[in-house]
Amino acid sequence: KPLIISRADHNISRRSLSPNAVKVLYRLKDNGFTAYLVGGGVRDLLLGREPKDFDIVTDATPLQIKKMFRNCRLIGRRFRLAHLHFQDEIIEVATFRSARLDDVPAEEPAAMDESEGHTLTGRSPLLLKSEDGMVLRDNIFGTPAEDAVRRDFTVNALAYNISDFSLIDYVGGLDDLQRGVIRTIGDSGIRFVEDPVRMIRAVRFAAMLGFRVEETTWQTILELSPTVTKASPPRLYEEVLKLFLLGAGERTYQLLRQSGIFSALFPHFNDWLERESDGFPHTWVGKALDHLDNAIQNGEKVQPPLLFALMFSQYLQEKAESFRKAGLPAHPAVNAAVAEFMGEVAPTVQFPNRVAILIRDILTSQHRLRKIPGRHPETFATRHGFAEALSYLRFASAITGEDKKVLAWWEKFQLEPQSDIRPDGEPLQ
Ligand code: ATP
Ligand code: MG
Repeated sequence: KPLIISRADHNISRRSLSPNAVKVLYRLKDNGFTAYLVGGGVRDLLLGREPKDFDIVTDATPLQIKKMFRNCRLIGRRFRLAHLHFQDEIIEVATFRSARLDDVPAEEPAAMDESEGHTLTGRSPLLLKSEDGMVLRDNIFGTPAEDAVRRDFTVNALAYNISDFSLIDYVGGLDDLQRGVIRTIGDSGIRFVEDPVRMIRAVRFAAMLGFRVEETTWQTILELSPTVTKASPPRLYEEVLKLFLLGAGERTYQLLRQSGIFSALFPHFNDWLERESDGFPHTWVGKALDHLDNAIQNGEKVQPPLLFALMFSQYLQEKAESFRKAGLPAHPAVNAAVAEFMGEVAPTVQFPNRVAILIRDILTSQHRLRKIPGRHPETFATRHGFAEALSYLRFASAITGEDKKVLAWWEKFQLEPQSDIRPDGEPLQ
């Protein structure tokens, strides 16, 4: 028996939804189906935050959804769901289901191979679990109640019903939302074994929303954090981006460290941080993330290579330095450092190659950036990755207080590249 909160007793209105989401909900309803807004959208609206996206669930099957919407694409092989494409947003419509597969972007080939090496013990051909309890596949349609309880956290399981504008709460999500608590639905041990990425999500939501992780859930994370590495490396890369690029990276970082998740994701880097203990490199990561958070909160779009170049800056530079001592010239030393780092993280977090290349370019450009004006700055400024390299310098300079003049020179140069400017920032007359 769920708790039903009628329209007068909560603050979600149709006006706070995107017009497309409202349209989709009504089209489903008018065709005789049940339709709920669910997930982070409901959670964020209740908190007065702007939702990142709107997820809808219905009792219409994927094929029925496809017939109702011309802009519909069915995606996912392991679990089919509908993506409705609008001009500037995609609305995800899923059919109620009774258990959840890990939320791997379903078309990702690397993720499809996750069942390899596991012995399949599930009885139904539609629900597969490996021997250690990881959910490998589920494709079982279910009831609204089942759909709610297979979700990860209570605050993520609330539903907004378009037919009477009520809120439906099967798992005490509203209470936890009001208290600011992230709590797994059901036994946290079981839920984190089913999908270890949920531990990362717990930390992300806690940091993002300023919530605390409920005690049992937190204790389970402390115990199981080493198992996050069971998720596929491409999926973990996507999760890492969400951890640090949503504007609460610094708080997320602190929680990740406390939970043991950070050391599971980046064991070598974490060991190095521990060795540095209270030194500058240690505080660097927090400071870098703090500056990035401010930029993101001000609407700046931070790209992954910039994030990682800054985050791992001290570590990569120390590696590069030791390659230089071993006799490599400056650029090859940076290349070797980035390559070594990528080798260290590859078993856990799979950075795309283009990102690794840009991290390298950002770092190797720093030397040239400091040689102002240098030869042909206008050519250098058109180089692939120049904007990222300059952004890096801007953030690094904000942290160290150094290189202010260099920065001012390039900023001026970008405004008026033709003019002749002296390295001290003064125009030559
Ligand atoms: P965000 O603001 O990051 O979009 P969200 O809560 O909407 O947060 P999504 O990844 O968009 O997160 O997922 C939508 C919903 O699907 C979640 O709110 C949750 O109910 C459910 N969900 C997502 N991932 C999982 C998972 N790994 N296990 C169980 N339920 C999940
Ligand atoms: Mg979402």
